[in-house]
Amino acid sequence: MGEYISMFDDRVRGPRVRNNYDVIVIGGGISGVQIARHSAGRGLRTLLIERDDFGAGTSSATSKIIHNGLNNMAHQEFRVAAESLKEGRYLGFAAPHLVRPHSRLIVGRHWSKARTAFFGAGMAAHGLLGRGRTEGLPADNQAGAPRWVSKKDLLRELSWLDPTNLVGAWRHDDNLNIHPERLLLALVTTVAESGGSAINHAEVTTLLGGPGEGITGVRVRDRLSGESADIKATVTINAAGPWVDEVLGAWSVPARMEITQHKGVHLLCGDIGLKEGVAVRGENGLRILLTPWQNRTLIGPNEVEVSGNADDASRATVADVKEILSALDSVSRRPFDRRLIKTTISGVHPRAKGSKTERFEIHNHASEGFRGLFTLTGGSWTLGRLVGEQVIDRVLADESDRLPPVRSFDSRYVNLATSFGDYESVAESFEAALVRRPEAELGREERIHLAALYGTDHLRVLELISENPGLAERLAPDSDCLDVAAQAVFAVSDEAARGLEDVLDRRLAVGTLGPVPAQTVGKVADLIAPLLGWDEVRRATEVAEYLANQKLDTAVLEEL
Ligand SMILES: Cc1cc2nc3c(=O)[nH]c(=O)nc-3n(C[C@H](O)[C@H](O)[C@H](O)COP(=O)(O)OP(=O)(O)OC[C@H]3O[C@@H](n4cnc5c(N)ncnc54)[C@H](O)[C@@H]3O)c2cc1C
Repeated sequence: MGEYISMFDDRVRGPRVRNNYDVIVIGGGISGVQIARHSAGRGLRTLLIERDDFGAGTSSATSKIIHNGLNNMAHQEFRVAAESLKEGRYLGFAAPHLVRPHSRLIVGRHWSKARTAFFGAGMAAHGLLGRGRTEGLPADNQAGAPRWVSKKDLLRELSWLDPTNLVGAWRHDDNLNIHPERLLLALVTTVAESGGSAINHAEVTTLLGGPGEGITGVRVRDRLSGESADIKATVTINAAGPWVDEVLGAWSVPARMEITQHKGVHLLCGDIGLKEGVAVRGENGLRILLTPWQNRTLIGPNEVEVSGNADDASRATVADVKEILSALDSVSRRPFDRRLIKTTISGVHPRAKGSKTERFEIHNHASEGFRGLFTLTGGSWTLGRLVGEQVIDRVLADESDRLPPVRSFDSRYVNLATSFGDYESVAESFEAALVRRPEAELGREERIHLAALYGTDHLRVLELISENPGLAERLAPDSDCLDVAAQAVFAVSDEAARGLEDVLDRRLAVGTLGPVPAQTVGKVADLIAPLLGWDEVRRATEVAEYLANQKLDTAVLEEL
């Protein structure tokens, strides 16, 4: 089994880290985590290594939609459309508390790219493709058939739409990713429960081995302590999203994946009263989504092709924001009220070479003399499970002579580690949370908030409150955010969070809902400083850095 490497002991999810594995996965975004889940699920000794924090890359910049493949129909990718429909259903089974049905109006205007009638025919075909897609899901997670909404009815619902050139809309259903960062954590917990290990703040700096010999593992640097270690693996899988070429380049593997990178920006706005999502194409040709989500509205994304290191393209520019607003204003009766914009969210979509969609490719570098190294390009949140399954199937097919025998693993109808079991409805599973641990003094709304975000782990957060009632305190009492102090403690003690961004932006809700008030940042710093051994100087530095960083996402709004 190899020797232990102790430097990650305080935060490893799953068994302690050793110096030898069957499979190492580089990158803790949705693709890497799903690959690790399938590797561990098959019984392979698996280690997932993430440079920053789980979900800190593109996976937290999503439009928060589990797509139903309609967009792929428009690109005539019928196989991907069918796969997306199925994957939405499997995710609904996996985590019904975090993946909820959501309806959207696809607005038809005279300049819409697909003629409305033509689009309707596509929707009908799509409906047939998706028959039975919600079978077996909880009663309140069902989706309906596509239906036409007349111009008159549409304007009744969306009175802000400019009626000029308006035809009507198609209403269809997909799923909403309620808290992508927590869904990713639920998957990491699932990896750990299957026997795999996952570490964050650990960067792969070098691939070990060489031409002929193949890739035999990785050198990993703990970004918290600065220490490095070599870890051997039969197979190394590069799932570093937009950074796959940097991982290859760090070792100078002569192959480059030359992925196509598209930066996408969203505007996170206050609640504008939408009851369902809207998709509309502006006069500038940009198709934007307006998505009601957690009492906020997400507007975007735009799409700009970028090149080079994705780190350099990770912020929104004034041009990005203006492009989105120009699209929105061109279909509205009056300009969108800029004061409603809370912040910008941006990320770089790592697409397979030349692709404009979620299509993914698996590359075995054995063809270049680097046996044992695989790279994934493309993929999406929606297709993440399929990516994980197919990457591991491919690895097993190509490397069966060097890997141990494996067990079968069908991930399609399995609850994630923290998901509620067999309830008739999601609401029922939340209601059950109201009567558990009655001694924890917490209101109804906060209890449901915890159940919705943590699944069965909400009990462990309640346990902290039972032990220390002070942890029931709301972290942002002047806002609609229901986060409580116990969540910050749990993030560090049980969820491997090691900094304010890890806690506020990826474990709690507050950092995903807009700029976090300085007072809340301070409160969370007070809670986690003793757990992380921060002295007063370190605490102050961490708070200042968090606030400065969050300002970078809002500064662009001042230039509008
Ligand atoms: C604006 C936008 C909106 C989107 N909306 C949707 C949507 O609504 N629905 C949907 O299904 N998909 C959506 N997508 C696509 C989806 O978000 C991405 O395809 C997906 O998140 C990519 O995941 P990933 O794991 O490949 O990459 P990432 O999430 O970027 O993960 C890669 C990870 O690798 C790590 N890494 C890099 N280098 C190293 C190293 N040397 N060592 C260790 N780790 C390393 C990074 O830190 C990063 O966390 C959207 C994408 C964008 C940009």
